[in-house]
Amino acid sequence: MSEVRVLLLPGDGIGPEVLAEARALLEALGPATGLRFSFSDDLIGGAAIDAYGTPLREETIEAARQSDAVLLGAVGGPKWDYLPKATRPEAGLLGLRKELGLFANLRPVKVFDALADASPLKPEIVRGVDLLVVRELTGGLYFGQPSELVRGPEGRRAVDTLPYTEAEIARIVDLAFRLARERRRKVTSVDKANVLNTSQLWREVATEVASRYPEVTLEHALVDSCAMRLVSRPRDFDVLVMENLFGDILSDEAAVLAGSLGMLPSASLHGAPPSRPGSPARLFGLYEPVHGSAPDIAGRGIANPIGAILSAAMLLRWTLGQEAAATAVEAAVADVLDAGIRTADLAGSGTQPVGTAEFGRLVRERA
Ligand code: ATP
Ligand code: MG
Repeated sequence: MSEVRVLLLPGDGIGPEVLAEARALLEALGPATGLRFSFSDDLIGGAAIDAYGTPLREETIEAARQSDAVLLGAVGGPKWDYLPKATRPEAGLLGLRKELGLFANLRPVKVFDALADASPLKPEIVRGVDLLVVRELTGGLYFGQPSELVRGPEGRRAVDTLPYTEAEIARIVDLAFRLARERRRKVTSVDKANVLNTSQLWREVATEVASRYPEVTLEHALVDSCAMRLVSRPRDFDVLVMENLFGDILSDEAAVLAGSLGMLPSASLHGAPPSRPGSPARLFGLYEPVHGSAPDIAGRGIANPIGAILSAAMLLRWTLGQEAAATAVEAAVADVLDAGIRTADLAGSGTQPVGTAEFGRLVRERA
C-alpha cells in the first residue's frame, strides 16, 4: 500500500469542524484506493498566533514541503482583527502559498441538481453549471512594484503596478488547457485587452499556447462582459483562466451560483496535474474550502462541510490522480443532497437541518 502524507492545518473558527469530516472521508477511502493516508497536523492563523505568537512558523512550511498535500480549514476571526495586517492570521496563509510557489488557484463551481433553487439566480440559469475558474495567484497587481500610498505635503498619492512576464502567463494558461482537455474542451481566457498592455500580452500568449492544443477551443473574453455572462449564461463556460485580480473578483461572483459559500472547494497548485489519470506521479497541492472561518457559527457543529469534503476530492483527483475516487465522493455528496438532507445554511424553512458531523457521516456511507 502506498503511503500518502497529508498535512492538516485546521486553522480557526469552523476550520477544525469541517476539516475533521474531510480527514475522516480520506481515511475511509483508503482501502478502496490502495492508499494509506498518514496525517500530521499543525496550527496556522489565529490558532498559531495564540500558541506561538506568529500566524505561520518555519516548521509548518517545512512540514508542508515534506508532505504530498496540505488540507487547510480556514483562518482568521474578530479576535485577531486588532493586529497589523502583516501579522494577522490571513498573512500566514498568504505566506504559505507564496513559500510553496503555488501559482495556480483552481475553483470549480458545480451546481448540484438538488440545489438549483438555492441560488438567488433563477434555477433555469444555474441548473447544470459546471465550470472551473483558474486564477493566477502569485503575480500581477497584488505583487507588482512600485506599490505605495504616499501622504505627502502636496496631498496623497497611491500607485499599484500590474506586471506579467510571458513565462508567467504561459504556465497558467497551459495549465488551464491541460485541465480543459480532460473536461469539455473549452478555455475562456479573460482579459481587458482593449485597455491594458498586460492583457494584450496575455491574449497573445494565450493564443500561442492554444496552438499546442488543437482539440481545445479558445475563446477570449473581456472581463466586464464575462462578469455579466457569469450570471446570465453561466453554462457557456468550461474552464476560465485569468490574472490575479480578475480571478479574485470573478471567482467570488461565480460562487453565487452554487447556493452557499459552504459548498465550494479550491486547490492551489504549482504545476499541471499529471495528464494520465491514475499515473503514479504526484502533484503537490494545498486544498481548502473557499469559505472563511465563519466566526458567527463556529463551535456549534452546524457548518456545512461540503466545501472541505470536495476539497478532499480535489486532492484525490489532482495530487493523486484518483479520478474514480474523486468522482465517487462528488456523487456521494449529490446523493445525500438528493435525499433532501441539508445543513443549516441550505435548509429552507420546513427542513430540519443536520449537523456537520452527521452530514459528513452520510457522505462517507455513500462514497
Ligand atoms: P473571510 O474574511 O475569512 O474570507 P468572510 O467574511 O468572507 O471570511 P466567511 O467566514 O466565509 O466569510 O462567512 C461568511 C458567511 O457565510 C457567514 O455568515 C458564515 O456563517 C457563512 N458560512 C461560511 N462558510 C460556511 C459553512 N461552511 N457553512 C455554513 N455557513 C457558512
Ligand atoms: Mg472572504
